[in-house]
Amino acid sequence: MLGNSIRLFRVAGIDVGVHVSWLVIFALVTWSLAVGVFPVQDTLKGLPEWEYWLLGAITALLLFTSVIVHELAHSLVAKSRGLGVRSITLFIFGGVSNLEGEARNPSTEFIIAIVGPLTSFAIAAVAYLVDAALPASAAALDAVLSYLVYINLVLGAFNLIPGFPLDGGRVFRSIVWNATGSMRRGTEVAVFVSNLVSWTLFLIAAWLILVDGNLFNGIWLGAIGWFLQNAANAQLQQVRVEQRLRGARVADVVEPDTTVVTPDLPVVTLVEDSFMRGNRRAVPVVADGRLVGMVTVGDVKEVPRDRWAATTVGEVMGGRDGVITVRSGDTLQRALEALAKGDFEQVPVVDDGRVVGVVTRADIVRQLQLREAFDFEGAMPRSATGSAR
Ligand SMILES: [Zn+2]
Repeated sequence: MLGNSIRLFRVAGIDVGVHVSWLVIFALVTWSLAVGVFPVQDTLKGLPEWEYWLLGAITALLLFTSVIVHELAHSLVAKSRGLGVRSITLFIFGGVSNLEGEARNPSTEFIIAIVGPLTSFAIAAVAYLVDAALPASAAALDAVLSYLVYINLVLGAFNLIPGFPLDGGRVFRSIVWNATGSMRRGTEVAVFVSNLVSWTLFLIAAWLILVDGNLFNGIWLGAIGWFLQNAANAQLQQVRVEQRLRGARVADVVEPDTTVVTPDLPVVTLVEDSFMRGNRRAVPVVADGRLVGMVTVGDVKEVPRDRWAATTVGEVMGGRDGVITVRSGDTLQRALEALAKGDFEQVPVVDDGRVVGVVTRADIVRQLQLREAFDFEGAMPRSATGSAR
């Protein structure tokens, strides 16, 4: 989840939260409806002021629900296609589903992306039908539902703009990816188009501010353009890293002289030898050659210092469950995803239950820099002298 996010609830195994910036939107929507929209509608004239505010807040909550349902559609389709979903966060520009990886093929990317706008259009259709079935006397409900129809149409259409990270950008990438057979090519073309969209937004923003005098909309549009541009370039960066690391294996960078400890080791020795002298923040715990858990700086900090000599590693370590490991034969990309998934600095490399080393974030970054320096892509050829490194 983004920093400064508040977790709200969990649905279908997915954490849903709001970033503090979303509260600004909530307040803005409520205010503009309560002051600018509802009081001037013919059917709602002459209500007490608090009713406009109440209607505004209810409508803002329904908008909030619409965005969550839109994001849930992305997340549930992603799950059904085998991609993990970490969380859904609402922020100032809408919602974001935090997936644990990228789609492996264009059809998966296409369907995950397109289902969002389709869901928004479906919500608009349902709200429209309910609204049409209402008696004429239900003026307040009619006003709320009409706004819901409008805002979901806008949400669906806005998300179809072909700019990253909007759904339209992903739909567009999947189409180019499908046509060229290359995810990198698809991303490059989609990022180019996305940047065109950003520059168009900047131009419109400049016109709004300088010529039209509409400062608020101008700044708003400019901020969206700026956000799109950043997101598009981050996406390009990520795909370039993936491309660079293609063919790179964990075996290429694994540190074979790993520091491992046994469960009966006193914590004081662990701190002195493995953490301080070994310069590690986490160490695999091994018994009879098998990985039984991980012990981290965080685990040790739970124990008062005067108890370090009398406490063993086995008493403080985290168990084998939940320890993410990789194998020598795994790709570095996979190791990178494992590191990102748990926000770890390192993951143990385990072959047939035996710990053969660790791979750290720094190892992967170094490999990436080397590949960049020598413009090297693909698998490392094995050397004739038999060294595996
Ligand atoms: Zn979406």
